[in-house]
Amino acid sequence: MSPHRCQICGRRKHLRKDGGIAHHHVQGAPCAGIGHPPIELDDARLVDQAAQASREYLRLSDAIRELEDRRANFIDPALIRQRNASLSASIKLDRRLRRHQGWAARYARAYERDMYLQGCTWADKPPNYLIGRFLRGIDRIPDAYLTSE
Ligand SMILES: [Zn+2]
Repeated sequence: MSPHRCQICGRRKHLRKDGGIAHHHVQGAPCAGIGHPPIELDDARLVDQAAQASREYLRLSDAIRELEDRRANFIDPALIRQRNASLSASIKLDRRLRRHQGWAARYARAYERDMYLQGCTWADKPPNYLIGRFLRGIDRIPDAYLTSE
């Protein structure tokens, strides 16, 4: 099993020779994470896709609201389905991004709890760039982790 995960869908995939994630499909469509580095190395694609999905949802819902305000006789059901699909994609990517950004803090909590209860931990260590952000305080650090002893 490959140790590398896709940034967008989170599936374990092998890397291509150029270091990008190999081709794969999600629900019939090619995944947006193809050819980008795995989540262990970078999360730029995930941040970008989450922002893009939320912009797409706002654009489509504004278009539909504008048609409703004009009292248009016909609103294409395909447009409404597209808006609903983009909302669903946006919610999933936002949730995934929030969980990803809390990885370091979650690991610190799990490590502390496991070491207290059983003396060892099996939690997956977060990637180094997330630990760096966590230690630089970009992610919020609970006071309990700053004081040793
Ligand atoms: Zn993927």
